[in-house]
Amino acid sequence: MEHTESAIVEAFDRRVAACLAAPFQILPASSRRLVDPFSGRVVLLNAERARRPTPGSGADPYRSGRTPPTLSYVRTGTLDVVVETEALSLEFGREAGERGETPWEVIDALGGMTRSMSPGAGTRSAQPTGAAAAVPAVFPSEPWLARTFFNLAPIVADRELGANGFVVAVAPEHEHADIGVLLPSPDTVGGPVPLPPDVVEAVVRSWSLLEQWAGSRGLVSVPFVNGGKGRASGQSLQAFHAQFYALGADIGLPGYAYSCATGGSGRCPVCDVIAEAALEIARVGSVGVYAHPAPEKELTLVVAATEHVSNISAVPARDFARALTVAVRSFEVSLGGVPPYNIAVRCGASAGHLHAEIIPRSGVPVAAGFEKSSGLYVTTRDPFDVAAALRSWAPSVIDAAPWPPALGD
Ligand SMILES: [Zn+2]
Repeated sequence: MEHTESAIVEAFDRRVAACLAAPFQILPASSRRLVDPFSGRVVLLNAERARRPTPGSGADPYRSGRTPPTLSYVRTGTLDVVVETEALSLEFGREAGERGETPWEVIDALGGMTRSMSPGAGTRSAQPTGAAAAVPAVFPSEPWLARTFFNLAPIVADRELGANGFVVAVAPEHEHADIGVLLPSPDTVGGPVPLPPDVVEAVVRSWSLLEQWAGSRGLVSVPFVNGGKGRASGQSLQAFHAQFYALGADIGLPGYAYSCATGGSGRCPVCDVIAEAALEIARVGSVGVYAHPAPEKELTLVVAATEHVSNISAVPARDFARALTVAVRSFEVSLGGVPPYNIAVRCGASAGHLHAEIIPRSGVPVAAGFEKSSGLYVTTRDPFDVAAALRSWAPSVIDAAPWPPALGD
């Protein structure tokens, strides 16, 4: 098992290296660290981010294949994680780079290239039977649920280290969905459809491979989701997707520092949350869902491994995926629908104890003048009351089949 895992990490590393040889990313010329003289907060300067694509509501770059090539994907049915081996898009990108083409031109051209999808593979039959169907060159050649590729315009990147941003996109037939039933919004394209549980699990499995690869490189893993299809979460494309950054340890992550430091002194803040029974909302196998004990945004939930383990790969992907889903779908109960939200995952040795914060970005009070002046944050809901209200709801969601059901079924 261990041998198999290291083999897939090595294969992924080779794929990453091959992909880095072509201009598939708009890399920041410099990622300067600015320090807020009033709070000490670090701000990263990345001027290139301002030039990243801002497609209109009708644009579907993921669906059309206007993305960097696939690095790995999760097979439909078995949920196996597979490292991509196709060479067409890599060769094209490398040659285009030698001709001096920009990442924009390379990605645009990739969108017009196709490859054949092997007929009869897997269980989905979107393609005509009997004949190989053409799919974008950057898509896998067999049915897949999630695929990983380089972030076109990463926030931070270090070509030397191989530290980069990654996108985990879901298969085109699921792009319109989200983890829960969304609040109605004029911005939202598509219906309020929850993602099938396998798709969320495929995202977690994709993170797990990235985390193992980052660990093999001595990089710190930063997985997250900007969800809910709204600008308030930072989701710039309607297509559901997750992200992942693999960062050099020297960058210093304030979001990781507190839990790790206190963990080192013998008192783990995540274990403290788990030990407080009145904060618990639900358990899904080896992963729990808890009300955040002191949320900056009220109704924020915490998802954490019930044992003191650091890595995503240390818990079953199914448990983590379902617990994240319970947390996101809790907004259907507390807010009447899932608003724009963020899932901020902290994992790996530098995080101490695997946990995620699930943070609503609208429908709850905003931090305003008082908070910005004083540095104190205000919540109007007692976290213990939040947990009590959701505790009676969550088990019915977890146990019901097919899962997750629409609320009220
Ligand atoms: Zn702990």
